[in-house]
This record gives sequence, C-alpha cells and structure tokens, in this order.
Amino acid sequence: MSAVIQSNKAPLFFNEVVAKYPEVSRFVILKTDVQRRGVTYTERALAQADRAQHLMQARSIFHAIGEKSAPVPVSLLMRDGTSILAGPRPDSVDTYQVDFIDGRLVLVDEGEILEEVEYWLKPDFVEKLTSSGRPMWQIATPRPQRMDISPYSYCHYWDDGKGCKYCNIAAHYNKERKTNNKPLRLDALDMFETVREAIRQPGRFATIGLTCGSILGGNELFADEVDVYIEALQAIGENFTTRRFPSQLVASAFSPDQLARIYEQTGLLTYTSDIEVLDEEKFKWICPGKATRPGYREWKRRLVEAVQIFGRGYVNTAVVGGVEMATPHGFVREEDGLRATLDEAEELASQGVVTISCVWVPNAGSVFHKQKAPSLEYFVLLAKGLDSIRRRHGLIVDMDSYRMCGNHPDTDLSRI
Ligand code: SF4
Repeated sequence: MSAVIQSNKAPLFFNEVVAKYPEVSRFVILKTDVQRRGVTYTERALAQADRAQHLMQARSIFHAIGEKSAPVPVSLLMRDGTSILAGPRPDSVDTYQVDFIDGRLVLVDEGEILEEVEYWLKPDFVEKLTSSGRPMWQIATPRPQRMDISPYSYCHYWDDGKGCKYCNIAAHYNKERKTNNKPLRLDALDMFETVREAIRQPGRFATIGLTCGSILGGNELFADEVDVYIEALQAIGENFTTRRFPSQLVASAFSPDQLARIYEQTGLLTYTSDIEVLDEEKFKWICPGKATRPGYREWKRRLVEAVQIFGRGYVNTAVVGGVEMATPHGFVREEDGLRATLDEAEELASQGVVTISCVWVPNAGSVFHKQKAPSLEYFVLLAKGLDSIRRRHGLIVDMDSYRMCGNHPDTDLSRI
C-alpha cells in the first residue's frame, strides 16, 4: 500500500480522495462512491428517460427494477465507457443525484456537478417473447456489453439460515415469487431462444454470465448445481459454432471432478467462485454456510485447482469489499481489513487465482441491511491494491473487465 487510511481522522470526501490519489482515474473513484452511496433521480432527470430507448426494467437474482414499481433507468454509463451498477436506493439518505441541467444529464453531489452520464440503452431482444410466451427480459438481464442469466434463483445455504449475512437472495426470491410469479428455475429452451435473439444485434454483447444461488444437494455437495449449469450452458452453447463461447460461470466451489465435467461437456470459457471475505475468522462469521460446506480452506484449494482446468487468468474470485468491517465481529480499523484482504489476495495470485472486488452495499433484505459500508478511501486503496497484485503476478483480468462486467472498480484500473 502506498498510502494508509488513518482511522482516527474523519473520512475524506470525493474531491479530497481524488486529490490524494492522482494516479487513480477520477472516473473509477466516482463510480465507486456512487455504488457505495447509491443514486436518486430528479423529476427532470426521469423526464429524459425514454422507455423506447433506455433500459428501465430488469430482473436479476438480487434485484427487480420497474416490474411492479415505477420504471426508472436501470443504471448509468460514464464518458470513459465504464458502467456504474447502482440502482435506486430509497432507503439511503446520502445518495448522489442524477439531474438534467443545461441540456446535460449529470451526477450531482451537494449542488456540485461532478460528471456527465448516460442511461443504459435497451437491447433489441428484451421485449420479444420466447416460444413459451415468456418475455425475454425475464430470462437475461442486460448490461451495456454483457448479459446475465440465472438458471436457478434461490440459495440453499438459507435452508437452515446459514446464508451470507450481506446477501438478500432469499428475501428477494421469496418476495418475487409471490408478487411477480418468478420461477425458481429457468427453462432450457427459453435460455437458448433468448441468447439466439440477443446475439443477433451486431456489436452489443461481448459475453454471457451465468449465476445462481448455491444448490447443495445431489450425490455429493453441489452435484445438483453442477447439473443445472450443464443444462443451461449446453442450451446456450447451441447458438455458437466454436468449441468455447464467451462466457463466465459464477458458481459454488466445485470439486476438480465436477469442474472437469463442466469443462468437457459445455463450451464454458471462464470460472469464478466467490470467497467473499479473505480472512478465515471473519468468513466463518459472515458466511456460516460456506464455512462448513465445503469450508474456507477447501474453497480456496478448489479455486487453485480450477486454474489447472481453465488456465491462468481464466479463474477468479470476488470479495465483498468492506464487509470484513461489519459489526460487531469484523475488523475495527479499515487498515486491518485491507491488509488481511490484500495479503490473502497476494497468496492466491501466487497460485494463479485472480481476486477482484465488489463494493459492499448493505442491501434491504440482508442481515447486515442496517450497517454502513467503509470509507471511499478504503475502496480506492482496495482497488489499487488488487490491481497492483495482478500486475506483480502477470495476471490478466479480461474475463471481468469494464466491458465484460463493469461491477468492479479494481478491474476498471486494469485497462490503463
Ligand atoms: S452463497 Fe452466499 S452470497 Fe451466494 S447466493 Fe448464497 S447466500 Fe448469497
């Protein structure tokens, strides 16, 4: 770390962080802070959103936008081409505002215009129907250059209440299945037809991401989850003539045999399995289900083994940045959380596994929903630290770049 957070001082505001870290792109710092604090839209800004042009309705395993609520822009794009994945946060009192001033859509904080933004454009496929009559926006969730598909919408670590404490998947699914009749599992033909339609649009999509909650059952841990993904990947893969297609699986920590099956039986290109918290003690408290099935050290061991199958730069793991400081059992000082995370990320990198970060948002529906994310400076140092580790170890992160994903401040730094 080239700079150190001083926990005994007041947290720095956006402009102060920009001034302190001139080597970090201002776009990345702003994106991080918008993700951290959320956005709200003024009436003038909402009047600029056009349902014929902009994406104002989306469904994922963690969120639903514009389904039974009023349609709002799903998210924002900045002038450097990076996305901000930050939905409206009605529960937050400290959000950035999107406003329309002097003919420009802008991000505003405390009356200061900080940056021009655009709404995400709606891809051609979303309003079409599959042959079973299901709207395609319910099958694939688009970002500017990626589409996400969740073949299964629940996580079985919640069966005995041992889901991850920052995660809202169970609360979200239980609400959605009642209010919007959301199915637990997607139909393979619906997935095939949606991807077939989506990739007809020239130049729009660079990759397809698949993720579910964890499915623990079957003849061994995660066996049923593996089967769900094989079915989905085979159906989607029918649209491609090459042996492998641009794809990312974000899934549980599968055994080498399970991964080998997926690799042989499908066209999957890259594999992600999120460790979430890079400290064994904090992991046990925050992710109690994963901590016993299969356990912290086994999760990491499986990541390292996955590199043998997919190759260096094609296997990564995400941390929920800052959640290791949750109260009451997390790190008290941000510098201690940062140090623990970067030390273990370095050890994983030395074995070919890339670590990336997300910005922890204490979402409604999660155990931690009343907590507060760490300072902006913490996230900037986390992004810088992870980017430096990758550079030291010669690891690429193209599978989760600003185009392929857009949700990770640290991978935005890797394009420079
Ligand atoms: S494994 Fe944890 S983070 Fe992933 S879906 Fe389940 S509860 Fe949520």
